[in-house]
Amino acid sequence: MNINMKESVVVAVREAPYRNTGMQGINDIERSVLEFSRECPKAVIVDGTVYSFDHSFDSKVSQEQLYRTLIHPLVLKALAGYDCTAMAYGQTGTGKSYSMGMSAERMSEEHVGIVPRCLKDILKYMNINDQKENHAAMGEVFASFIEVYNEKAYDLLAVDVNEPLTSRTHPRFTGGTCMPMKSQKDLLQILMLGTKNRHVRATNMNNNSSRSHAIVTIHIQQGFQHSRLNIIDLAGSESVRRTGNEGVARAEGVFINMGLMGINKVMASLSAGRSLIPYRESILTTVLQASLNSQCSLTLLVCISPHASDLNETLSTIRFAKNAKQMKITPQLSQQ
Ligand code: ADP
Ligand code: MG
Repeated sequence: MNINMKESVVVAVREAPYRNTGMQGINDIERSVLEFSRECPKAVIVDGTVYSFDHSFDSKVSQEQLYRTLIHPLVLKALAGYDCTAMAYGQTGTGKSYSMGMSAERMSEEHVGIVPRCLKDILKYMNINDQKENHAAMGEVFASFIEVYNEKAYDLLAVDVNEPLTSRTHPRFTGGTCMPMKSQKDLLQILMLGTKNRHVRATNMNNNSSRSHAIVTIHIQQGFQHSRLNIIDLAGSESVRRTGNEGVARAEGVFINMGLMGINKVMASLSAGRSLIPYRESILTTVLQASLNSQCSLTLLVCISPHASDLNETLSTIRFAKNAKQMKITPQLSQQ
């Protein structure tokens, strides 16, 4: 297996498709603020300023191209025994969940996202299937599904989903129920159970927007080696002001911001090479401690909107992406 360990933090942008109806239901016939240039395939031009990343995908990129270019290298690292994390960041409605493949609905091949594509390749490489006795299998594969909602972590596959994980029962909130994976059917089942249990609330931004962070982990057990591939679908990064909600939804927004700001602080500390990383400042970063650290390969997908009315959010997302690229990470082989 030819693995490139040099690039341990990979950052990519993906342009969301153009919406026909704008914010607050007003038809917005506006110019796109994003440009892509053939000469600089790694760059995106936002309102005239050029930003370069490791990959830059316009709205025409297919799910398959995105997976092959961005995520397949991470799958190879996970199979070789390294802990890896793929994380989607961006404002609501820009295609984070679509890209990550968190949906439990059956869909045509072209729309299938990252989680099922990862599992398909991992099962293939490890010679696991549900057709026959797995004598030739090179190990076992499991998956877990955790949600962070209102500064509480929930195991979405637990019998009592309303009981938050505590640091007493789950040190560092790692773990959660692990289900064996032998086929796409097994994955679909946990996505269905997890989706049913996720807290979804309508906001002005997107009437099906998820107000929680979701983490699917594929565990690869090969002998004594246990590596994890974490796929993280973060809640919308738009500011509380923008969601324009009152009451419970507003409180949700505050907690979402707390978690995302926590990630920013953790990234800044990892960039500065500090030994003390402020994981404990939010539940999200406490949960991510096992998947966002100096030994874990990270691929960040930032999803951005082409709309002029979203420019401030897009620029803030680009800033987040640039900060992520500064992180100093040295992947190390994972043990039990
Ligand atoms: P987010 O998770 O960032 O809030 P979603 O993934 O839910 O956004 O995307 C919003 C809507 O746009 C969904 O209906 C999704 O299926 C659709 N969508 C997003 N990106 C694409 C794309 N590249 N191609 C086709 N549909 C997309
Ligand atoms: Mg979403």
